[in-house]
Amino acid sequence: MVSRWQCRHCSFTLWAANSDAAADPVATHLLQHAASNLTNDGVRTAWRCPYCDTQGQTYAGDGAVEAFKSHLFEHETLETGVHMADAIGRTGSALLIVPTDGAAAANARTHFLSRGDDVLIVTASPAARLRLLDETLDSWPTSTRILTTAADPLASTGIDPAAVPLEIVTIDRRPDLSGLGETLASTLSSRRADGTLVVEFDILSELLATFELQTVFRFLHLLLSRLDQEDALSQFYLDPRRHQRASINVLEKAFDLSIRSKGTVFTAEPND
Ligand SMILES: [Zn+2]
Ligand SMILES: [Zn+2]
Repeated sequence: MVSRWQCRHCSFTLWAANSDAAADPVATHLLQHAASNLTNDGVRTAWRCPYCDTQGQTYAGDGAVEAFKSHLFEHETLETGVHMADAIGRTGSALLIVPTDGAAAANARTHFLSRGDDVLIVTASPAARLRLLDETLDSWPTSTRILTTAADPLASTGIDPAAVPLEIVTIDRRPDLSGLGETLASTLSSRRADGTLVVEFDILSELLATFELQTVFRFLHLLLSRLDQEDALSQFYLDPRRHQRASINVLEKAFDLSIRSKGTVFTAEPND
């Protein structure tokens, strides 16, 4: 669970662990909307609050800008105890455009997986994903299935597959998309647990490195409509360092929501 802030002026949404973590990014965003209320004539920096007409000024340094930002944030309240999936009605698809090996991705993975009763993870790094599940969730989901290209997926995890509700499905190291689609379809048609199906798809970057963008987009479109039929909550990961912005923009259109990370917070502008 996290705190959420939604801009009153635009569709910008921000999630943070708490109000302190949200303060600066929220204030920075509000400052963009209130830019015309901040003036600098070369000598004096002055601001006037667009909501309550409070004013302030300084003659040196950027103290006025910081004071204005703090003041703007005082007008805001964060909703607490929300889930990022609330933004899409609790089921649907989210594209997380975050460095896939960092703390933000780990936080998002745990946040989404904590909603799952029936969990399906498609990954090339099963050991890391299983360790994260084991260490961060209060308890294992009713069922966890891992679809992976890795040869020895449980090596070095210390996890006893007989002791947890876990199933490993191995897929070709160089999957063709129709083969991958078929494996996913048959996996999805044999649900292992009632409740919420949460899917984590980690190999989007690998697919983009192998196939044409339009081919990957068509594959995603089919997969996402299949997941819709299951009322799944799905999270797809894309590392912004590995792809051109134009490719990311194309892929974003397939998802209900795209989420980016900035330091310790997540931000989103809902996709049309
Ligand atoms: Zn805004
Ligand atoms: Zn004010």
